[in-house]
Amino acid sequence: MVAPPVEHLRESVRGAVTTPADPGYEQARKVYNAVHDKHPAVVVSAADAGDVIETVGFAREHGLTLAVRGGSHSVAGHGTCDGGVVLDLGRMRGIRVDPQTRTARAQGGCTWGDFNHATHAFGLATTGGVVSTTGIGGLTTGGGMGYLARRCGLACDNLISADVVTADGSFHVCTEDREADLLWGLRGGGGNFGVVTSFEYRLHPVADILGGPTFYPLDGDVIRRYRRLIEDSADELGALLVVGLGPPVPFLPERWHGRPLCGVIVCWTGPEDQDDRVRAMLAELGPVLGQYVGRIPYPVINTLFDELVPPGLFHYWKATLSEDLPDGAIDVHVEFGATTPSIQSVTTVFPIDGACGRVGPADTAFSYRGARFSTALSPTMTTREGIDAQRQWVRDYHAALEPYSAEGGYVNFMDGDDQGKVRANYLDNYVRLRELKRRYDPDNLFRLNHNIAP
Ligand SMILES: Cc1cc2nc3c(=O)[nH]c(=O)nc-3n(C[C@H](O)[C@H](O)[C@H](O)COP(=O)(O)OP(=O)(O)OC[C@H]3O[C@@H](n4cnc5c(N)ncnc54)[C@H](O)[C@@H]3O)c2cc1C
Repeated sequence: MVAPPVEHLRESVRGAVTTPADPGYEQARKVYNAVHDKHPAVVVSAADAGDVIETVGFAREHGLTLAVRGGSHSVAGHGTCDGGVVLDLGRMRGIRVDPQTRTARAQGGCTWGDFNHATHAFGLATTGGVVSTTGIGGLTTGGGMGYLARRCGLACDNLISADVVTADGSFHVCTEDREADLLWGLRGGGGNFGVVTSFEYRLHPVADILGGPTFYPLDGDVIRRYRRLIEDSADELGALLVVGLGPPVPFLPERWHGRPLCGVIVCWTGPEDQDDRVRAMLAELGPVLGQYVGRIPYPVINTLFDELVPPGLFHYWKATLSEDLPDGAIDVHVEFGATTPSIQSVTTVFPIDGACGRVGPADTAFSYRGARFSTALSPTMTTREGIDAQRQWVRDYHAALEPYSAEGGYVNFMDGDDQGKVRANYLDNYVRLRELKRRYDPDNLFRLNHNIAP
């Protein structure tokens, strides 16, 4: 590998420039998913939009591969590369909340933990990821699902403006009135169009919530009742279905630790005087094996998985989108749930009906507005050998769900070998996305993503 000339870059950026010869390189090159053990030629930890412009120009001028990294959670490993440039936004984490207009502007390297903490101080929130260390950048540009999705829409539906550095190094402020096409593409089209240095979101009144997990035996009837719960309940009820092995937590009897079960993680943002009704609905889903549900600040519900999935584990994911959760699919979850390979391997079903479905399929780049459930099949292991042994398990699981799933899926739950699905992921929006790509990135500088080739 010939080292690119970084001297000028070192002088022109305010953040850090780290090459293999520099101390800190081992840490700087690491990404969340340990499967991707890559060696970039240089990692630029940008301090501001100026550094982003400089780094994009450097990669373009030297013909180097460019990987953009926000929270580093890309399962497909899009936040790193061999021999190229990594643009790490991880130190750009400022947030400004305007409680009057109920909006927040957050820099491109923020995590959802940063964001929720900042907005909670004002009793406000928007849809974000269910793990606090996930980045707002990758999650929002891919779509963005979380506990508030039924009530508030996807994260990208709440994106009202963005500052973007495109491939030619130019800086764009895009809003509904100004470069609206670019904003449209950022709402689900992934990192294809440029580097977002700051995102502006619409916020919603959400302060303390009724939230937490309830575990049940892994039984098709429990999942059928969960399906009914989603059909019948108000959009203020966020409720993820999880299928996996019992975690070693004190509120679950020890005999269930490591045994297959299912669970519902509830996040009720409706009136507090209806908490008991929500608790009663949870009790009706099936025999409760363990429960930890109470009034908590909204940011806390998004930390429940944090300890289970720290950085450095080995992931390989598959995704499905479906209009329904038919009995056939439920049988598949019960069958494969019984052979879940590790406690960290949680299959998660996100309900995305309600507000997500009230946005038109062409209104944002995220096109599957008829889908009501989005599933992440996510075997996660502590060793490389472990994940290699589970690839076939998740491929079989995914194949068994195929008859009940849409052709495309949600890019953020897909791995790198799902590139062939990109067109299907965007349905009729694909043509417009490709035109946008030709306009803003004709040479495909931003290609480490679920790539829309120009
Ligand atoms: C533990 C875990 C939990 C998750 N939970 C959820 C969830 O609850 N809901 C959900 O919808 N998804 C979830 N995901 C999937 C998640 O949305 C994707 O992995 C997403 O890519 C993570 O974004 P990031 O910024 O952390 O990733 P990174 O690896 O930093 O970035 C991934 C890609 O996103 C693009 N990108 C990132 N930041 C920017 C930016 N500022 N400007 C332009 N492009 C950018 C780039 O193409 C980049 O390569 C989860 C993933 C993990 C591993």
